[in-house]
Amino acid sequence: MKLALSKEVGITENSELNHVIERVLTYILEKHVTVIKPVLTPHGITYPAIDDVLEKLKVTAPSCMILEALRERGLLEKKVIDRAIACPNCGALDIKTRYYCPNCGSFNLEKTYLVTHIDCGYTDAFVSFKSNSKLVCPNCHKELKESELVRRDEFNEFFLCLDCNSRITEPEIKHECNSCHTIFTPLEADYIEVSEYYIKEREITEYKQKLVINTISNVLTKQGLRKTTQSIKGESGVVHTFDLVMSNGDEKIVFVCPEDKKGDELVRDMFTTFAKAVDIKDAKVVYVVPEESSQGLPNLKRSNWLTLVYRDLDDLKRKLSRILS
Ligand SMILES: [Zn+2]
Ligand SMILES: [Zn+2]
Ligand SMILES: [Zn+2]
Repeated sequence: MKLALSKEVGITENSELNHVIERVLTYILEKHVTVIKPVLTPHGITYPAIDDVLEKLKVTAPSCMILEALRERGLLEKKVIDRAIACPNCGALDIKTRYYCPNCGSFNLEKTYLVTHIDCGYTDAFVSFKSNSKLVCPNCHKELKESELVRRDEFNEFFLCLDCNSRITEPEIKHECNSCHTIFTPLEADYIEVSEYYIKEREITEYKQKLVINTISNVLTKQGLRKTTQSIKGESGVVHTFDLVMSNGDEKIVFVCPEDKKGDELVRDMFTTFAKAVDIKDAKVVYVVPEESSQGLPNLKRSNWLTLVYRDLDDLKRKLSRILS
């Protein structure tokens, strides 16, 4: 499934993306997820929890794109917890780093320090005294013991280029991708964010409710019904408000989508809504409950009442078409 993830996609415009978002949001709400944490792999940053949801939906878009789409909708908060060096060619995170001689470009540098041969007074890099497994003064050519050299602590350590003999205090840094072997400088690297995403539960619940209401409205609009004012006056004279009221001439279908309620609160809301159904005899009341919240709900029956339990938005669409036919 290919997804357009531009900011401009409204929640009624891209049903495939909405479907994915709805499943991810349901997962977050069901599992009481509070933070979505990244895992760094040699191939890039992944979010295993979200990847699992996407894999089930056979969506190939990377989890970070879906998370960014959710963040753009104000449903997640991003916190940058680290940065990682990524290959500018293939995006891999399996990167090798080397130091290079700024003079000749060699990576054959040895970290060393200055020493003085006490006998002849010659000063050079310690590594320059090394000759195979022995120590030999490059000046007087005498073989010597390490105790005959004095370390010049007043000078800092440095790198000696073993190819051009340059002394280097700031070598050039280059990276190599272990996957595609591209060599690149720090400025050419992709220095990417490693982010955690924090759940904004209230916003997610509201958004999911909006998705459900929009889905219902779209299905019924295609069937020739139209949206009307959300309030209906009951026989008692009380004006009742619903999440969505659709009208087909004289006939009205009202929808209540208590996405934000669970357990006892949901049962109480169901009874309150049922009482409204008793009061507005001429309209059909559909109480729309996600499957994960539907356990233990009372089995209320009335000619103008329907409890619609749905698994996901596709399931909701199927069941809506069935009640309309
Ligand atoms: Zn690469
Ligand atoms: Zn060099
Ligand atoms: Zn010497």
